[in-house]
Amino acid sequence: MKGEWPRPVLDVWNAPFWAAAREHRFSVQRCENCGLLRFPPGPSCPACLCEAAAWVDLSGTGTVQSWVVFHQVYFSGLAEAIPYNVVQLRLDEGLRFLSNVVGVDDGEIRIGMSVSVVFDDIDEEFSLPRFRPA
Ligand code: ZN
Repeated sequence: MKGEWPRPVLDVWNAPFWAAAREHRFSVQRCENCGLLRFPPGPSCPACLCEAAAWVDLSGTGTVQSWVVFHQVYFSGLAEAIPYNVVQLRLDEGLRFLSNVVGVDDGEIRIGMSVSVVFDDIDEEFSLPRFRPA
């Protein structure tokens, strides 16, 4: 894909995710009380409301649950990338995650396709987790 990617707006909750991505690790919060993995990151566990959480690295593998191909420009920085896919993944650890599948034509994406994470170094500060067929 070409074009300037939109940048994440960093806050105290999501900064660890992006810092890990910069190191090419796919990391999410795990509740210190009940063990629930969660994404997006936030201040408390949606299951038990515990505020203590640790960051743990996941396998970075999962399967495609659904996908679309964007033909409309929703982000001016991605105008040159049109058309591009957006996929809903089910990570092997159970979390849902939205991303892109790279390395295949959009028409080859299938529900149930096994994928694994790759990190695109967008610039010197920002790496974007995306997925390729496993
Ligand atoms: Zn919990």
